[in-house]
Amino acid sequence: MIPSRLALYAFFAGRKLACRQVRAGCAGCMECYLDYEHISAAQADITDLYKRLGGTTGAKGICALEKEELRSYVSKIRQDIARAFGATAVQQLAITATGEKPDTRYGIGLDREKIKLIQR
Ligand SMILES: [Zn+2]
Repeated sequence: MIPSRLALYAFFAGRKLACRQVRAGCAGCMECYLDYEHISAAQADITDLYKRLGGTTGAKGICALEKEELRSYVSKIRQDIARAFGATAVQQLAITATGEKPDTRYGIGLDREKIKLIQR
């Protein structure tokens, strides 16, 4: 996965890890899903992840995500996961959307106990 997509995926994985819903593991939990405004407000975190992954470009794209770009990244990440792990893994691993436009929220449905973030 290229650094920009990996950065966004790591961002969502981190949000899932940070979810503190009472439900153990929070599999299928959508409380930790974020809408575009919240994702945009956390842009600095995404940019930071991107830079740590070796990303260098300036303000465009992943470093200043617009709504349409976010949607596009989410679908490209989904394709990357399908290519790497197969179509069935997509169900578990991909970033999914919930809610009706324009109140779409994004997140990862995977149980947080199955997520481990390794940072260099
Ligand atoms: Zn959650």
